[in-house]
Amino acid sequence: MGSVVRVRFHGGLVRGWILGPTGDVPSRMLRVERLASSVRAFDPPMLELFRWVADRYVAPLAAVIGRAVPPRVAGEEGGASRPAAVPAPVARGPRTSVLPAYRGAGAMLRAIAAHETATFALRPAPEDEAAVIVESVVACLASGRRALVLVPEADPVPSVATALRDAFGDRVVSLVGGDRRERYRTWMRIARDEGDVVVTTRPGVFAPLHDLGLIAISRESHPALREDRAPYFHAREVGLARARLAGAVAVLSALCPSAETAASGMPVVEPPARRWPPVEVVKPGPEGRAPRLVQALRTTRRGFVFSPLPGYGIARVCRSCGEPAACAACDGVLRQQRGAVRCIVCDAVGACARCGGTTFGIRRGGQERVEEWASRAAPVPVRRVDTPRLPHDGEILVGGADDVRDLGVGALDLVAVLDADLAARRPGVTARERALAVWMEAVGWARPGGRAIVQASDPSDPAVQALVRGNASRFHEHERRRRADAGFPVGVPVFRVTGDERVAADLRELDPVTMLVALGGVGAPTVCLLAVAHDRLEAFGAAMRELAAGGVVDRVEADPHL
Ligand SMILES: [Zn+2]
Ligand SMILES: [Zn+2]
Repeated sequence: MGSVVRVRFHGGLVRGWILGPTGDVPSRMLRVERLASSVRAFDPPMLELFRWVADRYVAPLAAVIGRAVPPRVAGEEGGASRPAAVPAPVARGPRTSVLPAYRGAGAMLRAIAAHETATFALRPAPEDEAAVIVESVVACLASGRRALVLVPEADPVPSVATALRDAFGDRVVSLVGGDRRERYRTWMRIARDEGDVVVTTRPGVFAPLHDLGLIAISRESHPALREDRAPYFHAREVGLARARLAGAVAVLSALCPSAETAASGMPVVEPPARRWPPVEVVKPGPEGRAPRLVQALRTTRRGFVFSPLPGYGIARVCRSCGEPAACAACDGVLRQQRGAVRCIVCDAVGACARCGGTTFGIRRGGQERVEEWASRAAPVPVRRVDTPRLPHDGEILVGGADDVRDLGVGALDLVAVLDADLAARRPGVTARERALAVWMEAVGWARPGGRAIVQASDPSDPAVQALVRGNASRFHEHERRRRADAGFPVGVPVFRVTGDERVAADLRELDPVTMLVALGGVGAPTVCLLAVAHDRLEAFGAAMRELAAGGVVDRVEADPHL
């Protein structure tokens, strides 16, 4: 099983995998031309996981295997296999020990030590984010099994990955980035048990390590854990399934858990007392500049200002004809950024839709403008983030959501969150959840000694309250009700199905929890968005395969961003 073979199909040789013997031989069969490699691409437990992914996300098994197993690179298949290596005990652990003081950590560490199948939600204090994962891995290795650690992004290297390298040295294998050859070489090393700890990003949830005792997911609410190409999958869900199938412990860690984790009822592991910076909520002043914030910046030596919008401002009015400003090419919004005005929709050089004029009255706001006014208030240089990093001593950085990464302990004097109101106006069922996770990660940088200021019009908003408390439980309760009212309850799989005019009627027969239909016009496809209860997934998958074969269904996308 797992052997890679070549099969002639439509005149070309395509890749295939041996799944095992079968008594159910179809009438039309193709011959295997040759064995492509002596290395097996997967073993029985991994195939079980692939089948789970194919069922859960309604994807062809071959597509799942094709994504999970990197393309082989001939010359990289040398290396001798080590005889059934078991992880050696940890020689030296990290010096500090934060987990034992956490509430609920005893049960988690015992489950890891006793090789139980269990899941835990870990809510670290911001300064413990890397340490709690390192210590979970220590427990796993001490029990004689290996650990898989998922991080949302590879570059810059997350502090969790650096801490693992510091603690375990060469026992850590990083499966992140790299070209095709390098990825395949690393994948082979993992399959040969050459590392005891694998640190990887989303696709690495399928890394072929054996004797798995722990899957730890750092920043489990991060959107990068969702695969947005077919076959769609979510690395958190796949990680949970893999841990279940392998009899391992899954640990989902985040300052702000995902709605799914919060709704799951899994045991929570957290510090015994609140460890969160003091957070002050102020009303946005003129241009989103609260006097309280300007005053705080005057005494800040190291800080971060979160501003969700790029640029210097938005064109309001055409200076030539006096009409409201809009893009001449597409009627889109025009933004001033790096000294030039461009359309945010089509990127055309800014020209008035009415008269072609190129000078505009600008409504100021955005990271460039924040840099300008904050520079006048602060005693130290204020800069926009170029590549994500923490500010140096004597520096204030201005950045957006993409600049908030796992960069380690912040120890900043001040973190400011601007334009919190924008998150509520953003479209999408999960937009607020994503905004809150980013705010919390940024505000966490004010630990251990700093403070935070949030500019928001409504201090009683559940997301703002979660940010003040450093705890998203009530926000998630609120979101659960909101999602249920909208017909897309948290944790219920959602699919976007594209097909012809017959598709909606066929889907209704499957009795979905919710279904929204956008009827196609003449010649355009019909798009259906539906929530399918877990116990109906199998029937749904079977129906989709049948409808696809019949030409009714064109595309099935699992868990689209709502
Ligand atoms: Zn445009
Ligand atoms: Zn004009």
